[in-house]
Amino acid sequence: MNPKQLAKQVCANYSNGICIGVQIEKDLSQYIDLELYNKPCCVNEKRCSYFERIILPLVEMSKEHPNLYAMKKAVTKYETKVIGLSKSLRRCKECKRPSPELKANEMFCVKCKRLRVLKSKRKYYRENKETILKKRRCHLEKVP
Ligand code: SF4
Ligand SMILES: [Zn+2]
Repeated sequence: MNPKQLAKQVCANYSNGICIGVQIEKDLSQYIDLELYNKPCCVNEKRCSYFERIILPLVEMSKEHPNLYAMKKAVTKYETKVIGLSKSLRRCKECKRPSPELKANEMFCVKCKRLRVLKSKRKYYRENKETILKKRRCHLEKVP
């Protein structure tokens, strides 16, 4: 599968090979991107911000999708041929996204690292809730 075929399958802007050009902001407001509007879907040759902001994370989240392997291939083609990232570029072990900032001894990108720390803190809290609450109560009782 190539990036355009992926767009055909999952991009809400794709209509018979032509881009409708709707962009969505973080606050969910929408506007028409005149760079994209009414032009052929360009992702086999050019970068598309919608594709990068919406479609690439969507593929990462679709862990159970029956066509995941082909979709990931399309993502790799986009990253290497269109964005120009090296295939040997180090990737985050969790989200599999290219992470050029990774040092030799690091496995996870900044975002995944933060999420993993939060997850482990929550797990620790759940498992030791009673002890933590007891300690807090004792501390509060000592405060004059
Ligand atoms: S150019 Fe981008 S937004 Fe438009 S159809 Fe293709 S992938 Fe979707
Ligand atoms: Zn990551």
